[in-house]
Amino acid sequence: MNIPINDEQNHLLVPTPIGLYCPEGDFYIDPMRKVDRALITHGHADHARPGHNHVLATPETLTIMAARYGERHAQHTQAIDLGTTIKHHGVDITFFPAGHILGSAQIRVHNKMQTTVVSGDYKRRHDPTCVAFEPVSCDIFITEATFALPVFTHPDDGIELQRLLKRMCQEPNQTVLLGCYALGKAQRIVMRLRALGYDQPIGLHGAMQKLFDVYAAMGCALGSVMPITRDTDISPGMLILCPPSALHDRWSRRFEPALRVMASGWMTVRARARQRHAELGLRISDHADWPELLQTIDEVKAEEIWITHGREDALMHACSLNNQKARPLRMIGYDDDEETVEQ
Ligand SMILES: [Zn+2]
Ligand SMILES: [Zn+2]
Repeated sequence: MNIPINDEQNHLLVPTPIGLYCPEGDFYIDPMRKVDRALITHGHADHARPGHNHVLATPETLTIMAARYGERHAQHTQAIDLGTTIKHHGVDITFFPAGHILGSAQIRVHNKMQTTVVSGDYKRRHDPTCVAFEPVSCDIFITEATFALPVFTHPDDGIELQRLLKRMCQEPNQTVLLGCYALGKAQRIVMRLRALGYDQPIGLHGAMQKLFDVYAAMGCALGSVMPITRDTDISPGMLILCPPSALHDRWSRRFEPALRVMASGWMTVRARARQRHAELGLRISDHADWPELLQTIDEVKAEEIWITHGREDALMHACSLNNQKARPLRMIGYDDDEETVEQ
C-alpha cells in the first residue's frame, strides 16, 4: 500500500492490508482474511474466502462458495440480486454485472458525498455463462489490471476455439488435454464449443465436476460432459478439460500420446506457452484486455481510477491522457496470474 493515509478520511472506501474497507458501513470488499462483514464480488479463491461472519454476494456466488467451501463457509449469508440496492448504515450498496464468471459483480458503494465502484475482475466481451459487464458512472472506479499492457489484445474466443477444432480434425485419434481454470473458463469454453457445433461428449478432470454441476444447475447448457475416472474408456480423439496444473502431472500420463493445449490470456506471451509445454496456446481470458480496460475507464467517467492487482504503469499513463487521476493500490493477496492460482 503506497497511499498516504492523510487524505483517506473523506473516502468511502480505503485500502487496508486486509482489503478495501468502508468505515461508514463497517464492511470489507473481497477481504483476504476472516472479517465480520464481507461483500464478495465473485467466487474465485483470491476474492471469496471462507470463514467470514456475514457475507453479502449474488445468489450464484453464494452457491459457488457453498460448493467449494461447504454450506457453513460463513455464519450468515445474504443474497443480493444484480441491480438491487440495499441500505446499510447510511451507505447504498448495489451489485452490477461484471461479465467475468457466473455470478460475478461489480459493487457500487454510494453515499451523499461519493460514488465508488469496485470492479472485482471483469471483461467486456461476450461470455455465455454470465451477464455482460455494465459500465456504471462513478467518482472513483477501482479496476483490475491483469492485462494492462498494449501487447495484450485478446482475439475473439470463437477464432481461438476454431484453431483447436481444426487441429482436432487434422489429428482425429489424438486425445486432447485442455488446461483451463476450473471455475468460469472451463464452462465458458464448453458452451462456446457447443455453439460452434461441437457435440461430442467432453471429459472432465475430477477437480472440475462439482463446478460443472453448479453451472448446469444454474441453467448453463453444457451438453454431454463426463468425469474421467480410472475406469473410464477414453474414445479416440476425446477432448478432456483439466486444471492447468494437471496438464503434466501423473494423472495426464495415461492419455499419451496427447495433444496438450492451454487456454489463458497469457498465451499471448510465447515464453509462457513454452513454460506450460503447451503445444497449442489459446488466448482466451476472463479478464479485460488492454482495449477493454481503456474503453472501460473512459465509459465510467470517473475522476479517479484506483488500480489493483496488475501492471499499473501503462494504465496510469493512459488515465492521465484521459484527464483522470490514477493511483496504484498494490494490494497483496490478489493473484493476477491466471495459471498459478488453483481455481
Ligand atoms: Zn476472478
Ligand atoms: Zn482477481
